[in-house]
Amino acid sequence: MSDNGKSDAILRVSHVTKCYRGVPAVRDVSFTLRRGRSLAVIGESGSGKTTLTSIALGLLRPDAGSVEYCGGAEDSGSTSIFEDPAALLRLRRESGIVHQDPFASLDPRWSALRSVAEPLLARGRAQRARGISRTEAERQAAQALQSVGLDPRVYGVRLPMDLSGGQAQRVAIARALVVRPRLLLADEPMSALDVTARLQILDVLGALRGKVAMLVVLHDLGVAQRLADDVIVMHHGEVVERGTVARVLTHPHDPYTRRLIAAATL
Ligand code: ADP
Ligand code: MG
Repeated sequence: MSDNGKSDAILRVSHVTKCYRGVPAVRDVSFTLRRGRSLAVIGESGSGKTTLTSIALGLLRPDAGSVEYCGGAEDSGSTSIFEDPAALLRLRRESGIVHQDPFASLDPRWSALRSVAEPLLARGRAQRARGISRTEAERQAAQALQSVGLDPRVYGVRLPMDLSGGQAQRVAIARALVVRPRLLLADEPMSALDVTARLQILDVLGALRGKVAMLVVLHDLGVAQRLADDVIVMHHGEVVERGTVARVLTHPHDPYTRRLIAAATL
């Protein structure tokens, strides 16, 4: 894992703990996401992956610990997002999120082109003065659709109900990418899809590797190898193993990681 001190860190999660009704879902977890790197979070259902990544993106407040976002401007330094609303806002604006179920993140009444253009228009509305025109937003949305392998002339007009799961997930990825995020969270982006669609999403996300910092929640270390440089393995809310995906796959230290690897080959 490269470590150039603080300079290349984008997100620094430190000693984060979160309980639901007294039961810990995440316990004392720390990790750093670095510029252009991709970090996989692996673990079985209920191990705390969604809780952890939701905290990391500022969607959920931890009971203890901090998340520092090292913002876009080089001189801005890092700021704790739960203490500084401006830092939280910056993180929200500069990150993209892809969920497990693509249909849950797409408005059923909106065409693919509108779904993808909307974040650009929303950002314009938030910044009031420097909004872009709908035509320009749709031009950029068409480009984003093209970049995930969907011809905007064919798919741009389609409603979610007229898309396959894999196509809908590609629309959701285009929607996350259209604002040119500095970091992308994908929470089990392939789990709800059939095998061919999984391969398409793997290709689309794989092509982003190195271009945008990625936090990607996955079940399988084999898939992590295609998408991530580094990995943390979670078990019962705790990190039981961390390192490069290559090292963890070939020389897992933790017995739970060994079981995960063995299970994936079944
Ligand atoms: P994963 O994403 O790895 O499947 P989650 O972070 O969703 O795990 O869940 C971790 C644990 O926290 C699980 O035991 C889950 O049941 C519990 N949990 C998650 N969200 C809530 C919630 N909103 N209320 C109560 N318990 C929750
Ligand atoms: Mg989850």
